[in-house]
Amino acid sequence: MTIASNKKYEHEYDYSMNQQQLPYNPSVGSASSAAPTCSSSCGPIGYEERERRTYELVVCQQPLHARMCGFGEKDRRPIDPPPIVQLIVKQEGQETWVDLQSLQTPFFVLHVTLWSADKTQERNIISNPPKCTRVLMGSLVSSPSLLKNSQGVQGLYFAFPDLSIRTEGQYTLRFSLIKLISSDFQPDAKSKIIAQVFSDPFTVYSAKKSSQKCLRSKASKSQFVTMQCFGPRGCAAFETFDELQSIQQAESGGLYTPRIFFLNRARKMSDSVDAKPQVEKKPKAPKAPKASKAKEAKASAYPLEVTPPPEFLQHRIDMFDRLKAAADAEIAQKPREPITVTLPDGSQKEGTSWETTPFSIALGIAKSLAERTVISKVDGELWDLTRPLESSCKLELLDFDNQEGKMVFWHSSAHMLGEACERHYACNLCIGPPLSEGGFYYEMGVEDRVVNQDDYANLEKLVSNVAKEKQKFERLVISKKDILEMFKHNPYKVHIINDKIPDGTSTTVYRCGPLIDLCRGPHVPHTGRVKAFSITKNSASYFLGDAKNDSLQRIYGISFPDTKQMTEYKKFIEEAARRDHRKIGKEQELFFFHELSPGSAFMLPHGTRIYNALMNLIKEEYQHRGFTEVITPNMFNLKLWNQSGHAQKYKENMFCFEVDKEEFALKPMNCPGHCLMFKNKERSYRDLPVRFADFGVLHRNEFSGALSGLTRVRRFQQDDAHIFCRTNQIEQEMAGCFDFLNKVYGVFGFDFHLKLSTRPENFIGEIDVWDNAEKMLEESLKKFSEEKGTHWELNPGDGAFYGPKVDITISDALRRNHQCATIQLDFQLPERFDLEYRTEGSEDPMARPVIIHRAILGSVERMMGIVIEHFAGKFPFWLSPRQVQVVPVAATFNDYAKEIVDKLVSLGIFADADVSDNTLNKKIRNAELSQYNFIFVVGGEEESSRSVNVRNRDDVGTKAKGQTIPLDDVLKSIQSLKESRSLENKL
Ligand SMILES: [Zn+2]
Ligand SMILES: [Zn+2]
Repeated sequence: MTIASNKKYEHEYDYSMNQQQLPYNPSVGSASSAAPTCSSSCGPIGYEERERRTYELVVCQQPLHARMCGFGEKDRRPIDPPPIVQLIVKQEGQETWVDLQSLQTPFFVLHVTLWSADKTQERNIISNPPKCTRVLMGSLVSSPSLLKNSQGVQGLYFAFPDLSIRTEGQYTLRFSLIKLISSDFQPDAKSKIIAQVFSDPFTVYSAKKSSQKCLRSKASKSQFVTMQCFGPRGCAAFETFDELQSIQQAESGGLYTPRIFFLNRARKMSDSVDAKPQVEKKPKAPKAPKASKAKEAKASAYPLEVTPPPEFLQHRIDMFDRLKAAADAEIAQKPREPITVTLPDGSQKEGTSWETTPFSIALGIAKSLAERTVISKVDGELWDLTRPLESSCKLELLDFDNQEGKMVFWHSSAHMLGEACERHYACNLCIGPPLSEGGFYYEMGVEDRVVNQDDYANLEKLVSNVAKEKQKFERLVISKKDILEMFKHNPYKVHIINDKIPDGTSTTVYRCGPLIDLCRGPHVPHTGRVKAFSITKNSASYFLGDAKNDSLQRIYGISFPDTKQMTEYKKFIEEAARRDHRKIGKEQELFFFHELSPGSAFMLPHGTRIYNALMNLIKEEYQHRGFTEVITPNMFNLKLWNQSGHAQKYKENMFCFEVDKEEFALKPMNCPGHCLMFKNKERSYRDLPVRFADFGVLHRNEFSGALSGLTRVRRFQQDDAHIFCRTNQIEQEMAGCFDFLNKVYGVFGFDFHLKLSTRPENFIGEIDVWDNAEKMLEESLKKFSEEKGTHWELNPGDGAFYGPKVDITISDALRRNHQCATIQLDFQLPERFDLEYRTEGSEDPMARPVIIHRAILGSVERMMGIVIEHFAGKFPFWLSPRQVQVVPVAATFNDYAKEIVDKLVSLGIFADADVSDNTLNKKIRNAELSQYNFIFVVGGEEESSRSVNVRNRDDVGTKAKGQTIPLDDVLKSIQSLKESRSLENKL
């Protein structure tokens, strides 16, 4: 509960840091290169000879550590996490994988053996004749399971959930693939190994060392299988994962964190005797934050609270009571003197030192104010409402609407969750910070159990009791010595105390009910302030975010001071999930991803229509705004990136490779190429400004764990442009940029907000060039904001070292903010590329231009994702990939329908005719589901009068019964609707 400011604690350990653990990107980076692979060069066998297939194994979940299990038979701890190996089968000479269904035979067997860390010596047996003892325990063979990742791509996986090792040391595992063929069923059969792979080396600790290292000590008894599910896009066989992710995305504001699910094998096994491979069991995704009565009914089999309660509870309370009595006695001794409390409006209240509290001041003003106030600030420091004021001070009262108030509220809620967890799991709490994106979590080590969504109801019940009891948050200053004694039962708290609190100093603990927690505070006055509480999800993490440490479990929650806000929050989450662009992208067949090119979208025909519509919008504007489109190379010799400075600062995000014995890289941005283009001929002041626009394909090596849908990709295009201008043209060019983005964002109906970041300390260039440029930027911002009635703010000192910039944040239909556009001045690149133009004067014949980098859509891929969610898949006509569906009422009118489609298509309209055998109602229903903007129903009447019956997607009135309009009129109005780029779907 302490040290929330420590970055390490604020982030979950990201499994994807280690790409070897990601099964769905087997071809990426070090994943396959680190694990030596072996294909069918080991020799063809049986009928495989005809088929010429190659077999490749990839360890997609590497073993990290284990606790030695010794030579007894009890207390075996499995290797953590359980190794998972993927089998990739290819037909020789073909790029694609072999149909996996055909491979799911029982004749593949993967066998595991134990090897020394350097992979040279086999370590399976300790031989002490006449005795031989196995070192590697558990099931050494595994059959493949056909599993799907969330992109719907199937793969074959082998899991080894219960391996353990008797002796400590450094080891690797070798996995050998055998395919049994019919001759193997003969007595003298000899099967060959057709592929092999080693795991990375891992460590097996002695029991003593593992507890010293805060390793998972007694957790994960062998009846539990820990089944790791790898994020962010992959999750084997979990059908609800996409759904879950969209909820998580909405909650986390768009960034996914990989999660782990735990599968309680013991209980699943008792449910059914069906002994499918464990990996096929489907752990349920944590439910959406919805505590429906129905779900409570199937709540966990565990009791609400452990009985008897863990001993440490009473130990802590006894100590707290003793120390608190002493502290209270001390406070009672403090001198009572009159003090003056000054409120933000300048008004003053009288009080008494060590008696008057912020709460009593608030109560003196109004009862409703006291109840609404979450936390106070005393002379700028956050201060518990019930903590006595010590001297005259300035006092602020903050409610839940205040960001700091929210954080205190959620932080206090985390204590309540912690209390519930101690009572339910008898766990060792670790940390429980609030989250800036909303809500909070508590992280803990749970012995003998894994957190399961079935537990949520019990935990929520306990929290609701805690709230009803209105437990006071009591603060106590405590010495390091005492606090170590108080938390001696909890290795995590002891570690944190020793790490963070200097010897001989003191800190604070807070108590609510039986929970006493190491915490700096402050908190809400009592637990009754939390009127609405919900657990949203759980995941796993490592102590201190280090995979070598104990694996911990995290439970996330959200809370509010009233139920109305909770209802709104849940609605928001549901709405965000409904709009998720990955979900809509799949439903409307817009795009997909494939593990063979992670982070690069495949734009399907209808997605490409949207993509092109976005680019065309910008291209049209370019024509009116003096931009010239250019095309520049995709790969450059690294020398270019050395000159531009990208190689020094950005190389790890670039895809580099060798061409003709020299290092090349795929371009992550267009600017250096444009500099070469500018330099390609002599430029005069009369030529400026030069505005190069480029939709070039860019590649950035985003680390695989960060990839998510269209919002974080490795391959993308930008509506990128570089303006080369004279310094005295900056103001005019900026005004042009603002006008441009105002036009474009207006088309989508986005609100936007501008922020000017100015000269940082480490700037390059001359100070008056900066001052001058910033003045021009400010002028154009002011002018623009006044005209358009928008806001802008100053962000001093936050510019890039090479120039000031304007960040533009747009706000979508759900009031979520996205930063897409940037306008960035650059004094550095022109230096680096020695760009110059001939001036008008003769004194200084040559001068440096300034570069303005600007993009409005930003990444077209990302903008497409935002736009899909903004419109919830109901695109305005100009952007829609399905604009008109012509529906003949019977087959006799198919020809007329096709004629109309031809006319529409020749006008550049995306039109289709439904000439299927479906009933009329079914055809209309299908067209509605596909989100066609208009449905033209045609029958005899329409054909004879050369008209169509129009149903409008967005007009409930015409949906039931359309309006009959002459065909020629419809064609005209539909074309002008397209050209107008109107947000309204109206002819
Ligand atoms: Zn706290
Ligand atoms: Zn640029």
